[in-house]
Amino acid sequence: MTATLVDNAMMLRPGHWARPGSVLVDDGKIAAINPEVDSVDCLVERVDAKGALLTPGLIDLHCHGIGQFLYEAAPQQIQDAASVLPSFGTTCVLPTLYTVMNRSSLSLLERLSEELPKTVGAAMPGFHLEGPFLALPGAGAETVAGDLVLLEEILAATGGRVSAMSVSPDTPNIIPVIKRLREQDIAVFLTHTRASVEQTCAAIDAGAQHATHFYDVFPLPEETDPGVRPVGAVETILADDRCTVDFICDNVHVHPMAIRAALAAKGWEGIVAITDANIGAGLDDGIYKTPWGYSVRVSQSDAARVADEDHPQHGMLSGSSLTMDRAIFNLLNWLDLPEYQIWAMGTTNPASVAHLANKGDIRVGADADLVLWEQSKNGLQAKKTWVAGECVFDTESQPCALGER
Ligand SMILES: [Zn+2]
Repeated sequence: MTATLVDNAMMLRPGHWARPGSVLVDDGKIAAINPEVDSVDCLVERVDAKGALLTPGLIDLHCHGIGQFLYEAAPQQIQDAASVLPSFGTTCVLPTLYTVMNRSSLSLLERLSEELPKTVGAAMPGFHLEGPFLALPGAGAETVAGDLVLLEEILAATGGRVSAMSVSPDTPNIIPVIKRLREQDIAVFLTHTRASVEQTCAAIDAGAQHATHFYDVFPLPEETDPGVRPVGAVETILADDRCTVDFICDNVHVHPMAIRAALAAKGWEGIVAITDANIGAGLDDGIYKTPWGYSVRVSQSDAARVADEDHPQHGMLSGSSLTMDRAIFNLLNWLDLPEYQIWAMGTTNPASVAHLANKGDIRVGADADLVLWEQSKNGLQAKKTWVAGECVFDTESQPCALGER
């Protein structure tokens, strides 16, 4: 692989600084920052950034699909999605599965997991399994109690390619599941819950360290004394400094003020941006067919909603239509923080939550997952994206990966 020097960039190291300079990439890694010109081999490919912003690639911990592709639908859709994600500046995703963590889907899980090491485009180090041990799993689904036998069958089917599992503190028998996941160095996320303070504390004590799509599907516990505001998982997670949180930053699933409240409790190091994207994300506004037997109406200014007059959930939210570039752009507009701290919410912070030690940073030895951006008052547009030092998206050769934007 040819080495590359990205020169004349406004480099941003998340959490630390933004300053002009150059990055030398070699053998998939960042080899030097601001190397001496004389020391750079004349065979190195040079990219003149012309002063554009250079950041680590964005990392999405919670994403079910993009465009027309849904990770759990078929192995090929994992590959198709991986090739599209870099056009949004996303270089690493934990493909998030929701309906296939059961005994009848073990062979599909096996086939899906075999795709992860083979992706061309965004890296997919492991799945985020959103379930099956959820207390409030959503429309029509039942709570599945913690089951160590089923857990081992799922982990075996995925060949160990699981980076995170989402559970609910109020699922029966969940504590042994959390402990087993932590033994395997799998991050445990809390979600889909109406847990009490005690249940949430027990889950955190057992090793859960993060809450995903925080506030969404975290309804209040029942009121016991009229007029006394119930307290549960949300307050416990906000108060516990062992826990970080992530948000669907689309202004539909969470109000920006609720993100500011979490920021006051957690500091910028404790906040992560996610998309929870689904079919339709990144596509132009319109109506799209899904594999679930109904269509969705996708709107960039809203989300994805069921668009089928005969369906009982017509008009209801059906995932977000968010992409990571827009999530960061929204946070830049909503939060009064230095930009390098906000970029950490899509780079170093998710890398640390998912134990991805070499990702999400601009430092010598880190994976060369990088994005050059074009910035305007309307948004961020990836101009050039590298994954492991390989250019996987370039506006000059691939102007629009999913059609006009
Ligand atoms: Zn989800």
